[in-house]
Amino acid sequence: MAEAGQILKKGGLVAFPTETVYGLGGDALNPEASARIYAAKGRPSDNPLIVHIADIKTLYKLTKSVPEKALKLADHFWPGPLTMILPKADIVPRQTTGGLDTVAIRMPSHPTAFELIRSSGICIAAPSANTSGRPSPTSADHVAEDLSGRIDMIIDGGRVEIGLESTIVDLTGEMPMILRPGYVNKAMLEAVIGEVGVDPVILADQEIKGLRPKAPGMKYKHYAPKGDLTIVEGTPDMVAETINHLTASLEAEGYKTAVISSAEHMSAYRTGMVVNVGSREQETQIAANLYDVLRQMDEAQIDYIYSESFAGGSLGSAIMNRLLKAAGHHVMRV
Ligand code: AMP
Ligand code: MG
Repeated sequence: MAEAGQILKKGGLVAFPTETVYGLGGDALNPEASARIYAAKGRPSDNPLIVHIADIKTLYKLTKSVPEKALKLADHFWPGPLTMILPKADIVPRQTTGGLDTVAIRMPSHPTAFELIRSSGICIAAPSANTSGRPSPTSADHVAEDLSGRIDMIIDGGRVEIGLESTIVDLTGEMPMILRPGYVNKAMLEAVIGEVGVDPVILADQEIKGLRPKAPGMKYKHYAPKGDLTIVEGTPDMVAETINHLTASLEAEGYKTAVISSAEHMSAYRTGMVVNVGSREQETQIAANLYDVLRQMDEAQIDYIYSESFAGGSLGSAIMNRLLKAAGHHVMRV
């Protein structure tokens, strides 16, 4: 921990576990450290970083003003998987905010993340510790796969708990707006601060021409496996029949196929690599396994991937938002 703190103070990069996904940390107030983060990830420079803090006082240092609703949310959900967008103070360099006047801030609950921020005394800018465009890392092995040799240290904290990135809420407008769905869902936010809007782009199950997401990062093709991924929606019987038909004919043509199945439907699929993403009774399992399953598809060099749909439930919008992006919004209704 002490060594990691020293690296951060010198402008170096340390990957560390958080409760959502692994983060690639650098000093958020040092523009050179931010530039290194973008370079290591191959991240477009207009895609801002989230600043991680361990003390509510730091929230005031990094922002111009803190509205009442932001304080209420911090009180309820911090430390935890919620990021808030607020007007930035001058000390936050534009390299960290992708040129914006606002800054994204989160206080993570993972003990390693929390302790690293606290003991180093540094505000840590930390996007997901993956190569830009690849599925986010949910284990230290995933980080090493993408960034080994490009960063100074990886702290291995085992597999993360949640497995999907934090919920992002914009508090700079009249109405608080969800820019990215996550473990903290709309109903949980509304129970604390009243009505909350949702950026229409993230709800769409198709890409809408001319409509840009408010979180710059949400516009990029993201989370995607190399193979061609299609989500198949319908009754379980029809979904299985359709997928079995497609995988059988593709395998006959010499392609490698895979199925992303719930635990409940594993035995319904007959061809290709059938992967269990978790039980429908426990959505948290599906969220925690999703990125690892997408990476397995690359490892096995799968050409065509078919996935069940996981809409509904309290994590449904977060899971489907990531899965739809991974599938390039390719959905088949049967
Ligand atoms: P990552 O850290 O990889 O999970 O990505 C951070 C996400 O937060 C990206 O989608 C960014 O576009 C978004 N974000 C960070 N700062 C801001 C901001 N000031 N305004 C809107 N979105 C932001
Ligand atoms: Mg990311």
